[in-house]
Amino acid sequence: MSAPTDRSRRLDVVVVGAGFGGLYALHRLRGLGLSVQVYEAGSGVGGTWFWNRYPGARCDVESLEYSYSFSPELEQEWDWSERYAPQPEILRYINHVADRFDLGRNIQFDTRVTAAVFDETLGRWRVTTDQGDDVSARFCVMATGCLSAATTPDLQSLRSFRGDWYHTGQWPHEGVDFSGQRVGVVGTGSSGIQSIPVIAQQASHLVVFQRTPNFSLPARNEPLAPDTQAEVKAGYRSLRDAARNSFSAIAVSAPTELALQVEPAERRRRYEAAWARGGLMSMTTTFRDLILDKAANDTAAEFIRSKIREIVVDPDVARVLTPTDHPFATKRPCLDTGYFETFNRDNVTLVDLRQTPITEIVPTGILTTDGVHELDTIVFATGFDAMTGPLLRVDIRGRGDRPLSDKWSAGPRTYLGIATAGFPNLFIVTGPGSPSVLSNMVIAIEQHVDWIADCLSFLAANGFDAIEATVEAEDAWVDHVNQLANATLFPRANSWYMGANVPGKPRVFLPYVGGFPQYCSTCDDVAADGYRGFRLAPGPAAGDG
Ligand code: FAD
Ligand code: NAP
Repeated sequence: MSAPTDRSRRLDVVVVGAGFGGLYALHRLRGLGLSVQVYEAGSGVGGTWFWNRYPGARCDVESLEYSYSFSPELEQEWDWSERYAPQPEILRYINHVADRFDLGRNIQFDTRVTAAVFDETLGRWRVTTDQGDDVSARFCVMATGCLSAATTPDLQSLRSFRGDWYHTGQWPHEGVDFSGQRVGVVGTGSSGIQSIPVIAQQASHLVVFQRTPNFSLPARNEPLAPDTQAEVKAGYRSLRDAARNSFSAIAVSAPTELALQVEPAERRRRYEAAWARGGLMSMTTTFRDLILDKAANDTAAEFIRSKIREIVVDPDVARVLTPTDHPFATKRPCLDTGYFETFNRDNVTLVDLRQTPITEIVPTGILTTDGVHELDTIVFATGFDAMTGPLLRVDIRGRGDRPLSDKWSAGPRTYLGIATAGFPNLFIVTGPGSPSVLSNMVIAIEQHVDWIADCLSFLAANGFDAIEATVEAEDAWVDHVNQLANATLFPRANSWYMGANVPGKPRVFLPYVGGFPQYCSTCDDVAADGYRGFRLAPGPAAGDG
């Protein structure tokens, strides 16, 4: 028998994806002495920050918190320039991390994992790629991201368009010069709302195609003063502890009051203060019942609507921009810099797709029921097949050759969002059923990867070779996740949290809404209890590669 080639190796772990998740998984698992290979579809590290290079892209969790916490040295040596760093700076940071921890040597870029099939006889995953790799691994870690499967509307006629078109999540590396162009942006989620003000400044004319108006809050982005940064760095451990102990893994104090408990004037004063401070958390943590009680939510929603009416000069435009079909924060609120103000510009037109839907793309632009909007370039800010999309785009097969797509046909089923029954030794980083997108994701990623690393250490130390969620534990977790979601206002919105943005996708609330601390303590208890809810099986000693 010939020796395995580099493309047909036997590994301890395959990690899919080289964003924040895959990089930290590589760092931790390699540190355990395991042989690890990362495959990444992009030509560099960074994941979200590698792909989303659209104008105005930046984080919406403050950079001092939206960064790795695992290395105090890394925390101290990196300086952030702004409260919310722009995409190029976040990408530079991730590249710095990859260099600093010498991660590149175990990452194969420009390689998409096409299939991962569990071989029950060998107890190993056979992982194949579009570059001809065919490797065998005991463990497979899917760090494929929650928001990495971009979706462009299925418009056959798009091919007929004579101009250029782009998706915000697959932006060209060389950038796009909109000077002198008539540009159309389709979509007013976070990506649209960040890019529209910047594109409007460059384009000769911008047409915004809006299907659903959105709640957006001012970012109040600003340069980070050196002494502010130094102060945070001096107390970084307590900031990180506060983050881990807060609902969204962001260091804010939990609100104690109910919105309707305070007088209207005082409530308004608090909302004004939150609006002036800017940021996601200021408004969402004003009162503790905003996401639980519709009447409470209405007070915040109405405050934001009043701000839109104040900012937007044309009352008809303001009305179209005003969200009324979902409670505030049941879709991820957007964070903007001058979004509503942009509609006061002479070179910006708003098209209400509820009144005049897109009929087709024509060679010269976008045809709605109201006529053709002539365009040179179209930007689709139309989002992602979130959370399940990146996983289901890989042909993952577990016991009995059962495809994950079959098991999840009515919605994802996981235990803790980390594992799924029938797929032994497969781990998902920030999978459906975990806090993931409802939290500061870097912190959520670290918690998942640490849990996985500890789990693999435990298996090795105790002579186990395999771990698999039981169906009973998974069923109970899925019920728990659903019960929590149903006690909130979240299911009232047609959001990507619910899978509602992808035609035919099952309507299931995808993330865990019980809060980060509660989730972490459950994960810790499960581990401390000998991995309760998992079946552990003995096998060859760890490190047999
Ligand atoms: P990703 O960064 O998505 O990386 C996954 C990687 O896996 C990608 O590079 C992809 O190419 C690769 N991949 C997927 N499938 C395959 C395959 N089959 N084979 C090979 N490679 C594959 N979260 C926050 O908490 N705060 C923010 O401010 C914030 N801002 C965001 C802004 C934007 C524009 C977007 C889209 C998301 C934002 N998020 C934010 C969420 C963000 O996705 C996470 O914070 C984080 O970057 C996710 O890291 P990840 O490694 O889990 O996934
Ligand atoms: P999104 O929130 O899903 O928004 C997509 C937008 O496109 C929505 O306005 C949607 O309208 C519209 N759309 C989709 N299909 C359409 C169609 N066929 N015709 C017309 N309109 C269509 O996607 P996103 O803006 O890329 O953001 C996704 C998530 O990524 C965010 O929620 C956030 O978690 C993260 N993100 C964060 C930041 C940040 O500030 N740091 C920036 C970007 C993204 P409907 O609402 O009617 O479906």
